[in-house]
Amino acid sequence: MKAILDHVGIAVQDLDAALAFYRGALGLEIEPPEEVPSQRVRAHFMPVGESSLELLEATAPESPIAAFVQKRGPGLHHITLRVEDIAAAIAQLKARGTRLIDERPRPGAEGALVAFIHPAAAHGVLVELKQTAAVAAIRRLDTVARYQLGDLELVTVNDGFLKLDGGAMFGVVPKPLWSRKTAPDSRNRVTLAMRPLIVRGARTMIIDAGVGDKENARFSEIYGLDRTRHLDHTLADAGLSAGDIDIVLATHLHFDHAGGFTVRDRNGRLRPRFPRAQYVVRRGEWEDATHPNERNRASYLADNYLPLADAGVLQLVDDDQTIMPGVRVRRTGGHTMHHQMVIIESGGRAAAFVADLIPTTAHLPNAWIMGFDLYPMDTLAAKHAFVREAVDRDMLIFFEHDPAVAAGYIREEDGKRRVVPV
Ligand SMILES: [Zn+2]
Ligand SMILES: [Zn+2]
Repeated sequence: MKAILDHVGIAVQDLDAALAFYRGALGLEIEPPEEVPSQRVRAHFMPVGESSLELLEATAPESPIAAFVQKRGPGLHHITLRVEDIAAAIAQLKARGTRLIDERPRPGAEGALVAFIHPAAAHGVLVELKQTAAVAAIRRLDTVARYQLGDLELVTVNDGFLKLDGGAMFGVVPKPLWSRKTAPDSRNRVTLAMRPLIVRGARTMIIDAGVGDKENARFSEIYGLDRTRHLDHTLADAGLSAGDIDIVLATHLHFDHAGGFTVRDRNGRLRPRFPRAQYVVRRGEWEDATHPNERNRASYLADNYLPLADAGVLQLVDDDQTIMPGVRVRRTGGHTMHHQMVIIESGGRAAAFVADLIPTTAHLPNAWIMGFDLYPMDTLAAKHAFVREAVDRDMLIFFEHDPAVAAGYIREEDGKRRVVPV
């Protein structure tokens, strides 16, 4: 692989003292600092020719930089090599049996993709591989899509992907049937997108918010999380930031829909992720999520929604109603007792965000119902009625979990139904 020295990272304990040396004594120029929230790190770059020095400062006690300094004292932390194709570089290293910290690239500063090689493989040096934003930007194309529905603009965004057991995703459908629609990995898991929907009209709303970034490495491993490009990136692609959202609407409170509702701040405290938003949740769903049982406990993680009540931004709704002009919620039940979908209407046209009623296009046949559903017969009845309506009204359907198709129309020919992607 062709690699260029991008920068040398130096962990510092006392930033002012370090600046006194590098800026004061050496006379280097320091660029404005950059925050990498996922690593709890603030980075200060100093160009030196084609490369840079990077001073790394921990922003929270749980930062890997804080742990490094505590263990070894301040000093050389890593070197970063810039490569053209980080995925190809990782594949090449894996093929040689090189020990890696990141088997997949993840977001670094300035929209770059990065991955670390284990120091044991690099003779005691932590080596970071980096692919710059210009190259990484190509990956953006398939994450954000815009649709006009009358006066409303609908934008699908993405919080990355997760993997769930294929058997559980397709319930009683035998594997020889479902595996033709979606290929499982070596652990029998299928890949699912987490694709919230932005509705821009009288207000700016986001429906669901993906899994978020509060969970640990073990959780990430179990669910095969790939958040190389996550909601912050795709919101930015859509020209938005968390501060632009007025309303957050929950279809239900499972972690793959509500994980992104809250974030941990620098001091480890939980707070709403969308600072100006009111969060709208169905009361029955709230009751179930705050009183979990042995069957649904793994899906309901209180850190995703209890902080909303504490912050006073929670609005509970009791029944089907209009949340903002053109946007109504409708209970489906089935998946959870109070699972709701969202019907969007404007200019004589209709769209639906169906959430876990029809999670992917493969779930279109009425009997293809997830094993996760608590009340599958209710799912069946709700699907039956809704799909009929969707065909008759020519509704644009958003598939939150489909890894490839964000939206499409359901067409019926000779009694057979299929999704025509848009
Ligand atoms: Zn769910
Ligand atoms: Zn789901």
